[in-house]
Amino acid sequence: MNDWNIQSRAHQCQACGKSYADKEPYHTLLFDEKKDYLRLDVCETCWKGQYSQGANERKGFISYWQGVYEAPPPAPPEAIKRETAETLLRKLIERNDPQFTAAAFILAVMLERKRLLKVKEQHQSEGRRVFIYEQPKTGDVFTIPDPQLQLDQLEEVQHDVAELLEHGLPGEAAPVPAALEPPASPPTVASPDHSAPPAVPAPAEPAAA
Ligand SMILES: [Zn+2]
Repeated sequence: MNDWNIQSRAHQCQACGKSYADKEPYHTLLFDEKKDYLRLDVCETCWKGQYSQGANERKGFISYWQGVYEAPPPAPPEAIKRETAETLLRKLIERNDPQFTAAAFILAVMLERKRLLKVKEQHQSEGRRVFIYEQPKTGDVFTIPDPQLQLDQLEEVQHDVAELLEHGLPGEAAPVPAALEPPASPPTVASPDHSAPPAVPAPAEPAAA
């Protein structure tokens, strides 16, 4: 089971292929496919006709919610350059490296506090808790395993996260990690988001209003 993944909101119904109009309601179904979580976004008609009848378990999906499709705005050029908690989290998930499991979890908690991610569901997978988060603006779904951090590990992970936010991922500029020597120039990372908190909050604290 690959607990880490990001799945984007589809731009058309994945049952009938019809493109979504802006503000059109859609239905997201999340299936546990043993190797991966599989997301399916379907339109109202397909939901009613094919998926809405019967219990979720019998239909095979583990989670379900309704959303409203928003046509993506043209991407502002500065959005690509800035390293934020969210862009870092996406990179960590893409790397799928167990050494970053704890850092990804802390980033997801930070983003949830800032209301940039919403917890949709908690799911048990092979004895582990997996959080299913949604980025409300883009509709992207992130699945993040709970690293079951102990209190005495928190400080180190928070330090790692702060380092990653400041300096980016190691070897980010080199797509093939073959070279033994470090890259000639450090990865280009713009200054951190000023709205980011100065320190990573501990996940146990209640959200600040
Ligand atoms: Zn459809």
